[in-house]
Order: sequence, then structure tokens, then C-alpha cells
Amino acid sequence: MSNYSDTATDHSQHNSAGLNTEAIHELNQRYRSLNFEDRLHKLYEDFLPKKIMVTSSFAATSAYFLHIISRIRPDQIIHFIDTGFHFRETLLYRDYLGGLFHLKIVDLKADDYQHQYSIKEKLYETDPDFCCTINKVNPLEAIKSDYDIWVSSLMSWQTGHRSNLDIFDVRRGIIKFNPMIDVTRRERDAYIREHKLPFHPLVAEGYASIGCVHCTAKGKERCGRWQGKPKTECGLHL
Ligand code: SF4
Repeated sequence: MSNYSDTATDHSQHNSAGLNTEAIHELNQRYRSLNFEDRLHKLYEDFLPKKIMVTSSFAATSAYFLHIISRIRPDQIIHFIDTGFHFRETLLYRDYLGGLFHLKIVDLKADDYQHQYSIKEKLYETDPDFCCTINKVNPLEAIKSDYDIWVSSLMSWQTGHRSNLDIFDVRRGIIKFNPMIDVTRRERDAYIREHKLPFHPLVAEGYASIGCVHCTAKGKERCGRWQGKPKTECGLHL
């Protein structure tokens, strides 16, 4: 059976799968009435599985997203952007969930020279956007061209930017797939409770959103991220 990865090869459309605006609109219409899990099932029918990229930050509630993905496609590679600035607990949580769900995790890292530069210049303090570009955005950019579509776990209630996203969206030339965009916090928490999934260990210490050590503080939702700075997103999703 043909799918979007087979048929849509017109890269003049300036996105990974060569889909035009009408095709993306039509995808949004077809997927809108489905729930999170059904959207993922359908994605693997509509696109070649090997052309689907999945990332996880192994943050506060990543277990929800990863539990569902791993049951639908056990072979799916999960890319983890290892900035070199993660909490030790995040790395332990990555390894723990990896074992629990039998995940195939691949770490992505910045060019070492640039990473060392970000440390030497303390870019996370002096220029966090540049720091994120070196340590988060560029490592992902290096592999993006291998894929047609990028699955994220963004939810609309998390930030103002995320509240404007659709299920399918083109960002920096790749089609983003946001199957959880309309999942409410209550639904997410209910799933985690029902399946007795483990939270990131720092959630119990008062961290609601967990990124790099230098840019994460305790607090509700995402108010602990980049405190004192106008930044609310790392740049991956902008
Ligand atoms: S979140 Fe902070 S430490 Fe991590 S890459 Fe971005 S600026 Fe650097």
C-alpha cells in the first residue's frame, strides 16, 4: 500500500515529505477526531516507519508518551538530545525507562569543540539561545534530513507557543506531528496513574518541567525553565 513517504517526493514544497499546504491541511482534518493512540497507529500506516523520527527529553512525564510509542512500534528509535548539561537523575531516568519499555535509544550530541566553547563562555548564562542552538538544535538538524516526519510530545496547555500548534505543522523544513497536542493534563495524569508509570525522580522534589541543570528550577509547570530570562522554548520547536 502506498503512503505519504512513497508518493510525496516533491521537495520543492520545502518540507521533509514534500507535502503541500493542502495535503497538510487534509492530514489535520483526517487525524483531528482520533485520539492520541489512534493518531500514532494511523501515522505508521500513512508514512514509512523508517522515515518517522521520535525524540524524547526523558523529562517529567515522558513515560506517558514513551509507553504508548513503545507498544505501537517497539522498533522505533528514540532520539535523546544529550546536551551535556542534564541532571544526573535525567540520565538515570533515560536508562530506567529504556530498560522498562525496551526502548532503542540513540543519544545525539553537539560537536565537542562547540560544546566546550559553550561551557567556557557559559553561554547558558550569557546567550542561552546560542547555547541551545549548539547543544540542542544543531545535533538534531544533523539527522533531520533522514526523516519525513518528526513526532513530538508537545501539549497545548504547556506554553503560549504550543497552544497555537496543530497536529501536523511544518517547522524548519520538517513536518512535525503533535499527536498529544490536545491531551489535557488530567488525561495525561490519569493514564500515568492507571498504568502505574514512573515519573522523573525530580518531580517528587518539586520540579514540574525538567531540562538542563543551568536552566531549570523548581516550580509549577514551565515557570522553572530559564528563570529570569524571556526564553520559554529551547528553539527545537520554534
Ligand atoms: S537549556 Fe540551558 S544549558 Fe541546556 S542547551 Fe539550552 S541554554 Fe544550554
